[in-house]
Amino acid sequence: MKQFTIFGNPVAHSKSPKMHNSAFNGLNFDANYSKTLLKDGSQLRDKFFELDIDGANITVPHKEEAFKICDELDSFAQKVGAVNTIIKKDNKLYGYNTDALGFLKAVSLFDIDIKTILIIGAGGTSKAISKILQDEGYIITILNRSASRLEDFKDFDRYTFDNFKPQQYDLIVNSTSAGLEDDYLPAPKEILEELLSNAKASIDVIYGKETPFLKLSKEFNLPLKDGSDMLLFQGVIAFEKFTNHQFNFQEIEKFMKRAFE
Ligand code: NDP
Repeated sequence: MKQFTIFGNPVAHSKSPKMHNSAFNGLNFDANYSKTLLKDGSQLRDKFFELDIDGANITVPHKEEAFKICDELDSFAQKVGAVNTIIKKDNKLYGYNTDALGFLKAVSLFDIDIKTILIIGAGGTSKAISKILQDEGYIITILNRSASRLEDFKDFDRYTFDNFKPQQYDLIVNSTSAGLEDDYLPAPKEILEELLSNAKASIDVIYGKETPFLKLSKEFNLPLKDGSDMLLFQGVIAFEKFTNHQFNFQEIEKFMKRAFE
């Protein structure tokens, strides 16, 4: 039986074991997926080999450490500097970033012509999704509360709330953690109201709750999504790698979706 796990801190809330086990069972693939609380990220590589697992997902706050401990990285993980999926083959660790691909798939499902995207936030998630969207030809602008993290976004138009003059963007993305465990909007209300009143759609990367950002988006009658599609699709893409592409996207999605019911 193959063994997989998710490393994180905290990890108790993670939906990944339910998602992957549901697909392993549904597709009769002999494997099990567990949760592993990892407090000290520097132990990640040792722990991976100690548990003798075949693959893993890595969540907050260890995605950058996961990037460092892999023997081989795919070109996109290399660009982003963060890894959320690792496969072990012949005692070597191969790293991927499926978060960004999952987000890209979620954006592509809007039945709307989207060309320009404003991403609020400049953390790890923003880094990954902004690069992949830019590679796909979208025109990306980054807006963040503080200036320091914008240093990593030299290839983008980037602003803080103080020097930002809202324009029209087709899609507004909340990639911050504002609204996750609090009731904050990710940017001042006046800025958001102007953006949302001119936008075609909005997405929050936070899932499982209606954030203040999504609540405000609703007032503008915009098509919207929370982070559930991103979570589901990053899982499907990781599962394809865990099972060496034996199953197609739709069949994995069908069983993985049951974890959300
Ligand atoms: P980071 O800690 O790397 O970055 C956090 C960002 O949020 C920073 O830009 C920070 O701004 C900003 N921020 C935090 N609080 C506020 C606030 N009150 N007002 C305005 N800005 C704020 O986080 P990650 O990028 O790792 O994660 C961001 C979110 O993405 C989390 O909520 C996480 O749950 C979600 N996520 C969802 C996934 C999914 O599958 N749906 C996958 C991965 C992540 P500053 O620089 O000023 O501090």
